[in-house]
Amino acid sequence: MEDRVHRARSPDMLITCIKCESRAVITSSNRIDPKLTQLYCACKNKDCGHTFVCDLSFCHTISPPKSDQYTALKGLIMTLPEKDRLTLLESVKNH
Ligand SMILES: [Zn+2]
Repeated sequence: MEDRVHRARSPDMLITCIKCESRAVITSSNRIDPKLTQLYCACKNKDCGHTFVCDLSFCHTISPPKSDQYTALKGLIMTLPEKDRLTLLESVKNH
């Protein structure tokens, strides 16, 4: 089975022209919202010349950012009575 998932090689993202399957380049982009960007693309095949727009959308998180982990942990710690919180912080300090 043909692998249709192109792995992005930093810094160039591999875009394939849907008309001729040649490599295309991103000429500009338009951020619609934090989870969606439209990519304006141009086929590099001189005999094709197709220009088109692709959507680049956020799919799902693989590993949450550190800021989310900190917020979740802090929320959990804040549910403890103050005495237990201080005991916990002291035990962490001593490690
Ligand atoms: Zn093309």
